Amino acid sequence: MAVTALYVHVPFCAQKCRYCDFDSRSFAPCDLGAALDAYFEQLYARLDAFGDAGALAQVRTVYLGGGTPSLAGERLVELARRISAWCKPVEFTCEANPESLTSELATALAEVGVTRVSLGVQTLDNTELATIGRIHDADRALEAIATVKDVGLDASCDLMCGLPGQTAASWKSTLDDVLAAAPHHVSVYPLTLEEGTPLYRMACRDESLEPDEDFQAACMDVARERLCSAGYHPYEVASYALDGHECAHNIAYWTGRGYLGLGRSAAGMLDAEDFDRLAGLFPDVPARGDAHRVRLVQRDDGATAFEAEYLSQREAAAEDMMLACRMTRGVASDLLVRAACVIPTGELAAACDRALELGLATWVTDHVEGHAGRVTSKDVIAGRARARLAPTHLGWLDGNMLFELFWGLA
Ligand code: SF4
Repeated sequence: MAVTALYVHVPFCAQKCRYCDFDSRSFAPCDLGAALDAYFEQLYARLDAFGDAGALAQVRTVYLGGGTPSLAGERLVELARRISAWCKPVEFTCEANPESLTSELATALAEVGVTRVSLGVQTLDNTELATIGRIHDADRALEAIATVKDVGLDASCDLMCGLPGQTAASWKSTLDDVLAAAPHHVSVYPLTLEEGTPLYRMACRDESLEPDEDFQAACMDVARERLCSAGYHPYEVASYALDGHECAHNIAYWTGRGYLGLGRSAAGMLDAEDFDRLAGLFPDVPARGDAHRVRLVQRDDGATAFEAEYLSQREAAAEDMMLACRMTRGVASDLLVRAACVIPTGELAAACDRALELGLATWVTDHVEGHAGRVTSKDVIAGRARARLAPTHLGWLDGNMLFELFWGLA
């Protein structure tokens, strides 16, 4: 299986948001330039090592994430230019925050092959933005969406619900304003309080700051209804897109494709064959004969330390089914038939039946060959019937229960 996706991590932010536990550092402005220069030199070297090893030739999607990649300015443009010299991705996303995305930067990125910008908008209520420690305001966020579209790139917006002080009215107003700006893609996430973050500590002192799960579920419902009426289709648990604007890179993650990670904290996932071929890129990571898949996380800036997780064939099959449950399409029958080669049919059928009993998923047939209501798990798993196990509304809202059913088969 060729590696078709590349993720690059840029772990720098102008200021740490209060809810964030991602790997990102903030520096005093006088030190930021030197820190970015040193980090990007290491990225360029690592990129060349990937390219020289032939690992980038088949790459179709690239995602520059962070952190705040747009903070790197010209260095980011140079990185994108170098990536485009090694491969010709059909989708090339760059994450950006509104305060550091200028029209010049968006134009330069478009010129070197970037096709899509994913903006950290979160909310369009200025009080909510200030409470969670974001440094942009609503006007700047709307300007950034317009800038991305004006230079001909796809615009995606990340939004969050369950923020301190957020109300049903402010959430609807955020959605209305985002829809008026008409990005191509919108992602909606419930806020989670991560231990160790400033917001977590604030919520320990003031319970009212804790996200209310019922309110978040209501926000997710309202978002789904408004986005769907505006022509966006929900293709993944948190993602909505206008037709043809789904994020191919994220779909690669959710459909078990191999990917490479570049930069500190970046994760890659290789099947055993690709890992053997590219083992020289991961010093001191031993091969393991029983591993079907290897997940690798770069642990330092210089790509000398990696954390490896080895998955057996059975674990990889369970992971593929769990990830497929994130997608609106659900788990395809082909995937179930393949999984049955390594997971006993009885256990697999029991997990499907449990998902049906709990109302988390339902069988859907795409062709009128059979009636979906008469499909049985055993028939699909044995290849006698074709149907996909798609999440229901409950399965979408309570995804963790569904994910656990399939991951439990590992
Ligand atoms: S901009 Fe993103 S990565 Fe940076 S601190 Fe905020 S949430 Fe974290």
